[in-house]
Amino acid sequence: MTTISNFFREQAAKLQPKLVEMRRELHLHPELSNEEHETTARIRAWLEELGIRLLELNLPTGVLAEVKGELPGPTIMLRADIDALPVQEETGLPFASTVPGKMHACGHDFHTASMIGAAALLKERAGELRGTVRILFQPAEELAVGARAVIAAGALEGVSAVFGMHNKPELPVGTVGIRTGPLMASVDRFEIEVQGKGGHAGMPESAVDPVVVSSAIVTALQTLVSRNASPHHSAVVSVCKLQAGSTWNVIPDTGVLEGTVRTFQPEARASIPGQMERVVEGVAAGYGARAKLKWTAMLPAVNNDANMAEIMRAAADAQGLQVAEAVPTMGGEDFALYQELVPGCFIWMGTGGTEQWHHPKFTLNEDALAISASLFAEAAVLALKEIG
Ligand SMILES: [Zn+2]
Ligand SMILES: [Zn+2]
Repeated sequence: MTTISNFFREQAAKLQPKLVEMRRELHLHPELSNEEHETTARIRAWLEELGIRLLELNLPTGVLAEVKGELPGPTIMLRADIDALPVQEETGLPFASTVPGKMHACGHDFHTASMIGAAALLKERAGELRGTVRILFQPAEELAVGARAVIAAGALEGVSAVFGMHNKPELPVGTVGIRTGPLMASVDRFEIEVQGKGGHAGMPESAVDPVVVSSAIVTALQTLVSRNASPHHSAVVSVCKLQAGSTWNVIPDTGVLEGTVRTFQPEARASIPGQMERVVEGVAAGYGARAKLKWTAMLPAVNNDANMAEIMRAAADAQGLQVAEAVPTMGGEDFALYQELVPGCFIWMGTGGTEQWHHPKFTLNEDALAISASLFAEAAVLALKEIG
């Protein structure tokens, strides 16, 4: 008797040429965040061709679909992202981007084709499925606004668990990285306005120099992680923009700093803005200047639920894949917003490339398409069983 695991593996192998074709079609025609209109139309057409039911998502771009099992049970969600980046492709591949300055340099074309594959496999075994699998093709991940829009549109209502992945160039094909707890960092943004007093470069005694104050703030912020955050937590504070003045002999009036804070722990994320405000205002006051911190909370950390991670491990085992302990990164992912609402697991899918995400020469090994499709079909079946 063929087990469902074997069935998924064999069918995924048969689907592979079609998955490659879809991935390349998307790769040829990349669209930026919230502009994924043709991508949306293509995904809808492919799903319809496969007989998969489309649901109303009520967003300009993105697709929501479902495979309803014939047996009653809970609803879980598989999520792919669909947007590309403003990067000029330099891979020289025969199916390289045809759009100047735009490229699927993060591999979201791969995620999309993989999840269409998973939906197709699940559809073939709908008779034994205990519940419903919703498949989401999310827009605008790169701008960290897509998941929020999807949630506001109600796509997560009734969903008990969510699963997703990112391709991982460092991992070989056939290996998946899975981990319980934080996998990707929270992402917040700050802006600091320094108000000094401009004047003549030769007469600093009558000015309050915002260049000096801004520099002192940059230096002082370096102690936030080393002296304020707990040694048991991990955090990054990066000042990435520093602007003041317009010429060589005038002390300017103001300075502006911008940057980002990344952490894995909610406690660290909650305490840093207050500590930063104290440092910023205190340093400025010491120089007789004023400084104001503007904090923009963007994304929580991707934090994997222990039970959902266990389901992914069991699915990977059943599919004969190598499971590695996933190495966390300080990059962010708006998948985290789904995990604030329902338990979920986000994994690394080994795609064996030489370049990192967002690089103009970013590539991936397409053999991982069928592997991803059967892994997520398997995970969906296991999750419905576990949760139901
Ligand atoms: Zn990206
Ligand atoms: Zn990405």
